[in-house]
Amino acid sequence: MLPNQSEFDMRSIETKEGEIYAPCVSPNRSMPPVSNRTQLTHRPRRLRRTTPLRQMVRENVLTTNDLIYPLFAVPGKGFAQEVKSMPGVYQLSVDKIVEEAKQVYDLGIPSIILFGIPEDKDVDATGAWHDCGIVQKAATAVKEAVPELVVIADTCLCEYTSHGHCGYLEVGDLTGRVLNDPTLELLKKTAVSQVKAGADIIAPSGMMDGFVQAIREGLDEAGFEDTPILSYAAKYASAYYGPFRDAADSTPQFGDRRTYQMDPANVREAIKEIELDIAEGADMLMVKPALAYMDVICRVKEATNLPVAAYNVSGEYAMVKAAALNGWIDEERVVMETLLGFKRAGADLILTYHAKDAARWLKA
Ligand SMILES: [Zn+2]
Repeated sequence: MLPNQSEFDMRSIETKEGEIYAPCVSPNRSMPPVSNRTQLTHRPRRLRRTTPLRQMVRENVLTTNDLIYPLFAVPGKGFAQEVKSMPGVYQLSVDKIVEEAKQVYDLGIPSIILFGIPEDKDVDATGAWHDCGIVQKAATAVKEAVPELVVIADTCLCEYTSHGHCGYLEVGDLTGRVLNDPTLELLKKTAVSQVKAGADIIAPSGMMDGFVQAIREGLDEAGFEDTPILSYAAKYASAYYGPFRDAADSTPQFGDRRTYQMDPANVREAIKEIELDIAEGADMLMVKPALAYMDVICRVKEATNLPVAAYNVSGEYAMVKAAALNGWIDEERVVMETLLGFKRAGADLILTYHAKDAARWLKA
């Protein structure tokens, strides 16, 4: 035997009778080089060697069941207008929302979340809680056309108030300090009318203290005790919402939302928020935004047994789209890696504008 040559390196064995037997390894299998070997006990690369091996030890998977697709309803008929900062995302009239909902369902995505842009805005956010509001109309139409699709209604007031804040303001206030408790009554009314219209899940997003409890009470009193609440429990005051405000026409006319949405510097506070929402009766919890807040998703997941949703927000979408349109990144790979990252961080559900593309890529 040559120096360093093991018996596994021998291609064949000559017997006494001179017969040649092939060894018990595939003849096509290339043998590792004999030199430059180090004695390593652990070689993690062993399990990355082939696609089937990698699939066998994969810790997280993304499926279409994880996805929720956001839609923006506007008044009118036959109307579809692309949001400038969100290529591929449209403001849609109710008839177009129905077409879109059918497509979403056919792609295997189980759920949509509805946002509304009303005809008129006022200080009482009438368009949010009126039985003929735009989200109510859209919810009814979608449930008629695609009963199996789970319709989530975003429950907030900022798209419906003339000042663009998420509730009542003191008369003359120019800072945007929303009055907490009076706003709860409006949220309650909004949630009840949305469920009456057909919404399956209520998702309050205004970050008012006690909003889950108020909505739970409102729903129970109205006989909707079986309707779950997906609370935007840890929602940060984020610059990543910029493009959404184009889409939902909900930019505050003055001030900002830092007196009610969370400070991006905080994570313990997120745990406090989710604990309160759980105590108030939340059925599911959301972290928003997602990409810069993966640690928050992870911490929230560790702190609760409730399902956790991550909102892959408009700014995250816009950055990927802009880079992809410039040919700077591989859109499919970047999107799928990002969505999988949310799963790894602990998200059970992902609200994302990439949902339809992701569903197509998962099918391919
Ligand atoms: Zn709001």
